[in-house]
Formats: sequence, C-alpha cells, structure tokens
Amino acid sequence: MGRIIFNNMTIEEMKPFFCEIGEKEFRAEQLFTFIHKNHVNSLEDITVFSKDLRDKLNSIGEIDRIRVYRRFDSKIDDTKKYLFLLRDGNIIESVLMKYKYGYSACISTQVGCRMGCLFCASTKEGCIRNLNPSEMAEQIYAIEDDLGIRIGNIVFMGSGEPLDNYDNVLKFLNIIHHEKGHNLSYRNITLSTCGLVPKIYDLADEGIPITLSISLHSPFDDIRKTIMPIAKVYSIEEIINACRYYFKKTNRRITMEYTLMKGINDSIRDLEELVRILKGLNCHVNLIPLNPIKEFDSGKPKDAIIELFVKELKKANISATVRREMGADINAACGQLRRRFANRVDN
Ligand code: SAH
Repeated sequence: MGRIIFNNMTIEEMKPFFCEIGEKEFRAEQLFTFIHKNHVNSLEDITVFSKDLRDKLNSIGEIDRIRVYRRFDSKIDDTKKYLFLLRDGNIIESVLMKYKYGYSACISTQVGCRMGCLFCASTKEGCIRNLNPSEMAEQIYAIEDDLGIRIGNIVFMGSGEPLDNYDNVLKFLNIIHHEKGHNLSYRNITLSTCGLVPKIYDLADEGIPITLSISLHSPFDDIRKTIMPIAKVYSIEEIINACRYYFKKTNRRITMEYTLMKGINDSIRDLEELVRILKGLNCHVNLIPLNPIKEFDSGKPKDAIIELFVKELKKANISATVRREMGADINAACGQLRRRFANRVDN
C-alpha cells in the first residue's frame, strides 16, 4: 500500500485509523484541524503530537501541500488567477474573485476534462486525471495563505466536470464543510455540471444543500448536441426533470448557465424556447458572453441581444443576470491559462 496522504481523509476515516494504529480517537480531530484549519506544512508542525506519534505518522504517510506555480493579477479588477503545481508535475488553475460579500474561488476538479464541449479550453487535450480531495482543498488553502484572506464561497467552475469525479468531489465537500476544518457552509458552494443526469439524482440524495448549476447553453437538443457531446446522452427534458428532483430534495434554487454564442443560441427563437422550457422551474439564469478561444470563436452577441434575453426572461418571472466578465486581461476563462502556459512541468 502506498503512503497515506492525510489531507485526503475525512474525520470519519481518521478516527478508526488512529484506533487501528493504537492511538486515541481524539487525535483524529487534532490532525484534521491542524491540516484544514491551521494549514500546517508537515507533521513536524503539529506540536500537540509527541515526537513518537509524529514519527509513527511519518512512517505511514504525509501531509501534501500544493505549490503556487504562477499568479496573475488582473489590472482591471481584483481577480487573480493561480496556476498550481501538483506533485506529479501536472498543472491546474484556479481563479479568485472579489465580490461585495467576500472572496469566491473557482476551483478545478480534474486535470483537463473529457466532456469535449466545443467552446471550452479545458477539454481540448482530454482528461489527464481526476483531482483527489486534498488537491481541491489545497487550491483554497494555498490562495488563502498567499493573500492572508478567508475564502467564503466556492464554485466548481474551473477545469473538469465535477460529477465525472463524483466520489472525490463528495469527500472534498465533507472536508471543506466540516466544523473542525474550514467550516464552509454548503450554501456557499456551487457545483456546475454539463448535465450528467444520473449523478444529479445521486447528488440530490446526498442531503447536502449546495447550489446546482447546469450548463445549458441551448434550449434545443439538436443544437446542444452540436456544441456539447454529453447532450447526445441526456436530453434537456431529462436534465430539467433531474433539476426538479434536486429542488424538491434540497430546496435550493437551480442556476442555469447560458453562454451566449452569436448565431448559435442567441436568436429570438432560442429566447422563446428558453422561456418555455424554464417556466415553472425554480431557477436563475446566468447569461455569460462567450469568452472566445482559438478553436471556437462564434463571436459575442451584441449587448442589445444580451439585454433582450434578460428583459424577456424577467418578464416571464425567471430571474436572470449577466455574468460580469472578470479578469479579462488574464485569460480567466476556464482552462485557458493552463493551456497557454504549460500543461505540465516535469519535476
Ligand atoms: N464541467 C462543468 C464546469 C465547467 S466551467 C460544466 O460544464 O458546467 C463553468 C462554465 O463555463 C460552464 O457553464 C461552461 O460551459 C462555461 N464555459 C466554458 N468555456 C467557456 C467559454 N469559452 N466562454 C464562456 N463560457 C464558457
């Protein structure tokens, strides 16, 4: 068996672990707090443990920290983009955004992505591997430690499809929410998915009230199929039914992401159909002007079209906002920076 990465363990897993190695169960809380609240760099820094206990733990496993590889600061707003170096040489990216209500981090769940959405930079080289729970948590802690801040909101909108790395994402949620660690409210977490329907049902049944966000991008299955391969597997109707179930179980309003792409999904017909399919669903529409990438540049829709979408959705009692473009000067769109820079650094 390989060495244990202690950051990957929930408290529920740590308790039996300490008993198995002949130690008291309360050590679990101590170890968890030192890792997830105090962000210690190594077992040596856990001063409440005796040298013997530290040596014993050291012989079994370690605490894994990720390193900031590069940081890019937007000159337009307070957005910061981070590239992190993982121990196997892979690079991942995260974005920090400052809002009126505090700091929000956009984190990655996979190195790359295998969903193949045409307009998305993250998926162009496929999925290299899943991130483990510690690598998700570390994106948060490394940014907090770099800037001396507390991150109060997390969105799963970096590289990767979170529901395609379901078990690790769930474990990460348990860890980041735990009161002995970061203690982040589930309500401050948003998970975005391109629509893996069975996993939406599974998530609804977990009983954790995070916000579910669906990358819809078109109200028509045939158009959706041309820009999002997953649409060939699950229809919009199936997604909406899963959303209704999610709302019934969690009471959380669903977010619908709609990236406006000129000539693809920005016509009056698209708008009317969007209103029709969303009517009666408790949801909020987030309109995102396309952030063009070199493989896909339909062009951004005109401001007047964006405004019309907002106006007509609101008229139909569907709340809608336009996502402010943040960090436009630092390639803040999903997966863009990692690609432009270096996908991998060999140690
Ligand atoms: N895999 C998840 C998270 C992806 S990123 C998902 O599909 O939801 C978060 C959002 O950014 C998604 O809605 C995604 O479709 C959108 N997105 C990706 N590339 C984009 C681009 N170039 N311009 C605008 N939005 C983009």
